[in-house]
Amino acid sequence: MAGPGAPLALDPAALAGRYPFLPDADAILGGLAITVGSLLEDPAYEGARALGRARALLAAERPRDAGGLQELATASPELRLLSFVFARIVLSAAPTPGALRRWAVAEAKASHRTLAVAPPAELEEVARRLGVEVGIAPGAASLGVAEYVRLAAPIREAEFRLARQEVAHGRVTVSPVRAARLLQEAVRRSLAAPFPLRPEVVERVRDRERELLAELAERVPLPVARAPGDAGLLRERFPPCIRKMQRTLERGENLSHAGRFCLAAFLHRAGADFETIVDAYRGAPDFDESVTRYQVEHITARDEGRGYEPPECDTLRSHGLCVRDGDPDAGNDRDRRRDPLCYEPFLRHPLQYYRIRGGTVAGEERSPGPGDPPAGSGASRRRRPAPEGRDQPAGGAGPRAR
Ligand code: SF4
Repeated sequence: MAGPGAPLALDPAALAGRYPFLPDADAILGGLAITVGSLLEDPAYEGARALGRARALLAAERPRDAGGLQELATASPELRLLSFVFARIVLSAAPTPGALRRWAVAEAKASHRTLAVAPPAELEEVARRLGVEVGIAPGAASLGVAEYVRLAAPIREAEFRLARQEVAHGRVTVSPVRAARLLQEAVRRSLAAPFPLRPEVVERVRDRERELLAELAERVPLPVARAPGDAGLLRERFPPCIRKMQRTLERGENLSHAGRFCLAAFLHRAGADFETIVDAYRGAPDFDESVTRYQVEHITARDEGRGYEPPECDTLRSHGLCVRDGDPDAGNDRDRRRDPLCYEPFLRHPLQYYRIRGGTVAGEERSPGPGDPPAGSGASRRRRPAPEGRDQPAGGAGPRAR
């Protein structure tokens, strides 16, 4: 705890209570002589475990509200820290990463609420401990361009795009409130990675917290394929970019807005039904059922059910979503390899790829040959404008919660 006269904002224990994701938290636990074993089993920590379970469950249900637990607001800094560590350990031991990733979103959002009103010195200190170099000046904060791009890439709001920022001498200047939003992303990334646990600890956690893990698995279901609406889809014939988007969500990783929009529009045109499209997003770390349904409806219902056009290859390439060179992280050889069809000069659209491979695209009467205009190119039908008047909504309608 803070010594007499120590500035509260930078007191390590108080900071750890407000920002339990900071590396210092481990040292504080060590100072309290608390081990993973005692946190899991000692009756003295049942209160911390109960609060940790509540944090994990609420995050799984409503990632945007996890900071709203009444018990959390009135808990001591030590209890908040212990419950956080307990939740992180249990979620890191879960068989699938979905609940951990959703909790990372929730905790990052909660940290943002605190950081957005923190004194500048505290903001700077938290950033430093997170490994993000933020310079603070009166009423402003600055980051290096590369750091800014790394943190801002998944943020939905258009005002975070680099083109709209004040950039000088390799640094981006933002308001302290926006710096807090960028740090939220740094927190989410750091918490989304499982805490390293020894195999015997993983087994012990799974054994002791069986009920909690079962409840989390129910609240964060894995993406599923529904037979009736899925029957006509030839998933193995989807283009590499679409398969990569699906893998990203199935692993519980974040997919950019442009990717989310493209996937929904593509699946719709490939004939997937509404529920199948919604299911594709269940692995997203910020999945929200009602928001996803609303956005899928928005993408698919347009133009009397024809839906928005998925973006062309050039557009996907400009968003870093084309993987025609292969995906080194893929689990099978085929997806790791370069795809020759994607290098054909006539290939301009993911739906064109799908048709050439034998898939059926909604609203098309025949399977055109390679030289035919690509599906969605505008040459074969009237083109529908995409949200925000662009091929895809970089800050727009991709299904997501944030
Ligand atoms: S070339 Fe087109 S279809 Fe192939 S991976 Fe790239 S964006 Fe997708």
